[in-house]
Amino acid sequence: MRLSRREFNKVLAAMGASGFLMSYKSEIVSALEEAKKNDVKIFWLQGQSDSACTVSLLQASDPDIYDAIEELSVNIAFHPTIMPSFGDEAISILEKYDPDILVLEGAIPTGDMEVACTFGEKNGKEVTLVEWLNDLIPRTKIAVVGFGVCAAYGGIPSGRDYTGKSPTNAVGLYQFLKGKKPSVPVILIPGCPGHPDWLLTVLAAALLGVAPNLDNYWRPKAFFSNLIHDNCARRGFYDEGWFAKSFEESDFRYNKCLFKLGCRGPITIAACSETKWNGGINVCMNAGAPCIGCMHPGFPDETSPFFKGQSRLEIDATKAIFSTLTGAVLVGAGAYIAMHAYREHKLDKEKEEEK
Ligand code: SF4
Ligand code: SF4
Repeated sequence: MRLSRREFNKVLAAMGASGFLMSYKSEIVSALEEAKKNDVKIFWLQGQSDSACTVSLLQASDPDIYDAIEELSVNIAFHPTIMPSFGDEAISILEKYDPDILVLEGAIPTGDMEVACTFGEKNGKEVTLVEWLNDLIPRTKIAVVGFGVCAAYGGIPSGRDYTGKSPTNAVGLYQFLKGKKPSVPVILIPGCPGHPDWLLTVLAAALLGVAPNLDNYWRPKAFFSNLIHDNCARRGFYDEGWFAKSFEESDFRYNKCLFKLGCRGPITIAACSETKWNGGINVCMNAGAPCIGCMHPGFPDETSPFFKGQSRLEIDATKAIFSTLTGAVLVGAGAYIAMHAYREHKLDKEKEEEK
């Protein structure tokens, strides 16, 4: 069955992230294949990044999605890591053609540190990423996509150093474009790295002419509506108050929740627990690693120090507000905190009575 544009968005919203990806992989693949036939041009720029988002995209483990990536990578007109051309020939593509879709990986250095990221030359002068974005975004025909938390909100390069600010004044597309109103949708898929299947779904939707429904942080609601904590396989242990006290107990066989090892699942909104990673096989918490909140708009400053235990009462309300998108979720987060504070109080009291 072939989905129409209207159905694509409707079904995505109704089925949720994992259900959609499982049922409609072939539609995603054929949208990408069609793009190749129609000579759709995808430009992929790299800012301040370690290329992990490119690696994430190229290492998708699902065989069907992998085929799509092969098709897609042939069709990516400009990509510093995987394109065959280089030098002036590569840069001329950015000047000669208008992108249908512009993907950014990595953060954007700004202000007096704009020169921290340059590629290509114009009139003998290096061109900064800011200049390329100012040139290319107005020329983009279908959508601008920020892939990874650095491209979305600044990520690691935007982290404050000992002086209290980012060494390169790094920002993501969210801060860079706020108030500028580009003529095409700007879709952000945060994560460190970004999730490859979510990107391919968004690209397929964009190529079908569908603008996915976005939240206040410009993230597709299909993948960014629920707290990771809500669908975590360890959630039952949390509710029972069974907490790992050390990493020795982080293995799933111990039946413990990782909250006291610093898990940020309760303040991070993303479909990690639903779609999982590596072709739907695993996710951080299931592998014994507390969530570090890499999808959170305030990552890393708002979610660190990592792996640091926190009392339930220490989840500060501003973090919850920052990561929370709707009043309903806000109320939910407040209820969690209140409920867990009460539970902790009750457990402490029970322990005291036992003594
Ligand atoms: S491991 Fe993290 S996300 Fe999972 S239930 Fe515990 S606190 Fe929540
Ligand atoms: S579970 Fe947490 S740390 Fe793991 S990918 Fe998702 S947001 Fe990032």
